[in-house]
Amino acid sequence: MASDLDPSTVVVHAGRPERVPNAPVGQSPVFSSTYVAGGDRGYGRFGNDSWSALEETLGELEGGRGLTFASGMAAVAAIVDLVPVGGRVVAPQHAYSGVLALLDQQAEAGRLQVDRVNVADTEAVVQAVDGAFMLWIESPTNPAMEVADIPATAAAGHAAGAIVVVDNTFATPLLQQPLQLGADIVMHSATKFIAGHSDVILGAVVTADDDLWTSIELRRRSLGAIPGPMEAWLALRGLRTLALRMERAQSNAAFLAQRLLEHPRVSRVRYPGLPGDPGRKRAEAQMSGFGAILSIELGGDAEAAQRVCESTQLWVHATSLGGVESMLERRRRWPIEVPTIPEDLIRLAVGIEHPADLWADLEQALRNGT
Ligand code: PLP
Repeated sequence: MASDLDPSTVVVHAGRPERVPNAPVGQSPVFSSTYVAGGDRGYGRFGNDSWSALEETLGELEGGRGLTFASGMAAVAAIVDLVPVGGRVVAPQHAYSGVLALLDQQAEAGRLQVDRVNVADTEAVVQAVDGAFMLWIESPTNPAMEVADIPATAAAGHAAGAIVVVDNTFATPLLQQPLQLGADIVMHSATKFIAGHSDVILGAVVTADDDLWTSIELRRRSLGAIPGPMEAWLALRGLRTLALRMERAQSNAAFLAQRLLEHPRVSRVRYPGLPGDPGRKRAEAQMSGFGAILSIELGGDAEAAQRVCESTQLWVHATSLGGVESMLERRRRWPIEVPTIPEDLIRLAVGIEHPADLWADLEQALRNGT
């Protein structure tokens, strides 16, 4: 497709079959475990047209070549598998707990070494990355909402000879393109905003480096964590409306962040879009919007935070994010969540409902739950 198109147009038009008479407008799911011999596809674990349509679209959005996986964690595992035995990974202090747990498991097994740093502290990243094989960045971080300086940390990673990976799940390819900011690999839990309807688990990787793409594709076929055709189709169908969903969810999040900031029961609001947020300037520099996730704290009161989550009627009390329906949860209810995440922190994953309805329900939950 023409490279000067706006990403909101690319999400609608990329990854479609060639426009020839009688061609379908969109790629259908292809249910076949193998292919007739003689072509380059070979077997269902090596490729599928339903994956290709999604991969092409994500590749165009991020500026590289895509690979889809059975889940975000399968994508993470394939990337981490690039690290040689004994290699060192510099990872965020705060990030999706499943990623940090995987790195810890591999470190405990003696497969690799892990150092954790606050990725919002560029100097700390510069210090830590010396001699590392991989620098793992997540920005904004889940659920602390810290913003890493991607160009500066990626440059530090490259100066140290490290492969730089960015988990772009929170920002989506519409708001942030890490490959253009200097990263080597971008990774998504496509389960979230990309698929967008809380009905699919899927992961994705995009890189502009052909050698990295080949190494990661090899891991997908050998480790076998491939997406189902139906899941890939659902994710691409969801992706078609990402720009519209993000526009509404993001404006809802900005509205709620301001209301929550003024609420007497809320002691802290973490949202890079707020004028006083520590990540605001960086987010403005490297993102085209502040996203639809925010976190709040209730002054150290974990039980009250739990009750608030259990008191909503519209907001769904569930883990996950990026769906059309708003969700909230106290992150520390999960034993693997990082202990420096406050016990009373509630992550709000804002959806596309009417902002007044979202606020009314939150407001009553804050009143009734605390
Ligand atoms: N990265 C981030 C930032 C996430 O929030 C998640 C899941 O919550 C993952 C990765 C893992 O993705 P999945 O649940 O699709 O395996």
